[in-house]
Amino acid sequence: MAQKRDYYEVLGISKSASDAEIKKAYRALAKKYHPDVNKEADASDKFKEIQEAYEVISDATKRSQYDQFGHAAFDQNGGAGAGGFGGGFGGMDDIFSQFFGGGFGGFGGGGRQANAPRHGNDRFMTMRIDFMDAVFGVTKTIKLNVDEECHTCHGSGAFSSEDVKTCHTCHGAGSVTQQQRTAFGIIESRVACPTCHGTGKEITKFCEVCHGRGFNSKQVDVEIKVPAGIISGQQLRVSGKGERGENGGGYGDLYVEISVSNHEYFIREGNDIHLRIPVSIVDATLGTSIEVPTVSGKVELKIPSGTQPNTKFRLKGKGVKDLRSSRHGDQYVEVNIEIPKKLNRKEKKLFEQLRDTDLSKESTDKLNKLFK
Ligand SMILES: [Zn+2]
Ligand SMILES: [Zn+2]
Repeated sequence: MAQKRDYYEVLGISKSASDAEIKKAYRALAKKYHPDVNKEADASDKFKEIQEAYEVISDATKRSQYDQFGHAAFDQNGGAGAGGFGGGFGGMDDIFSQFFGGGFGGFGGGGRQANAPRHGNDRFMTMRIDFMDAVFGVTKTIKLNVDEECHTCHGSGAFSSEDVKTCHTCHGAGSVTQQQRTAFGIIESRVACPTCHGTGKEITKFCEVCHGRGFNSKQVDVEIKVPAGIISGQQLRVSGKGERGENGGGYGDLYVEISVSNHEYFIREGNDIHLRIPVSIVDATLGTSIEVPTVSGKVELKIPSGTQPNTKFRLKGKGVKDLRSSRHGDQYVEVNIEIPKKLNRKEKKLFEQLRDTDLSKESTDKLNKLFK
């Protein structure tokens, strides 16, 4: 266990500090290191250390024990025995969050009211679409479970309007005053009413459809419009199809991440399409005109005579339409020249005749140069 720092040192005060000085030092440090404000990695540890020091030094009995025995006074394993104090500071968190949240005011924008509108959370899902659907866009319908406002009670959760009464605990305020003993003495704070959870209303008879919830879970069809040119990994936002908010806070959004399936032979890179085509050694040598597929149909491609292996031809504008503009990518056609693996008698004879020509001789000469 790490060596504990002296509590007075932690609070930056002298051993003779008055109660007011202790409180002042603590407030300044706690504000500085509160994890809600201070995002430094060790802020939370510092904050705990400050809390712990304050808990001891602000209590006259504990302080005198500490002055006498040091940290040993609160050692869980015995020491001077501080009567259960060693049990830790777990309970402090709640006190402090409340203290900073509501009781103090002016810190971190004040407390969050229990009945304040809260926006619903966003939802995320992944949708797989075909290669061509990504190129040209598609509309998909998905089934989604959403919490819809109850049509019977219009969200009130009550059987009839007469069944909505003012809460008998808070008399409609939505919050009640709670007294809590803290390190600062007794603090009065407003907390959400335990009966109505902040609404200020009580329902005497529940709506028979939603049983008081005010909403019903329902499966609905949601149209997802996937625009032409979408790329795998991009997200679409469907407004208002996230989770239900609370107290009229509105719905979150639905985010759909698009995953595009691979194509059998087209390969997409951004808005460009790459395609490899087989060309015979004869066509590559003599030249020809062939039809090649593109995402938008067949296109005539001229293979000039003497086309070399892996030559790339560009078909301008035959790629994918850009997601945000009307511009199109290109298609690149790479030539894979096929050397025959098997020849019939006639073909073999023709190739043997070619061997007697200069064609074969040229390569032999080039090879011989390598031995010089
Ligand atoms: Zn209802
Ligand atoms: Zn109430």
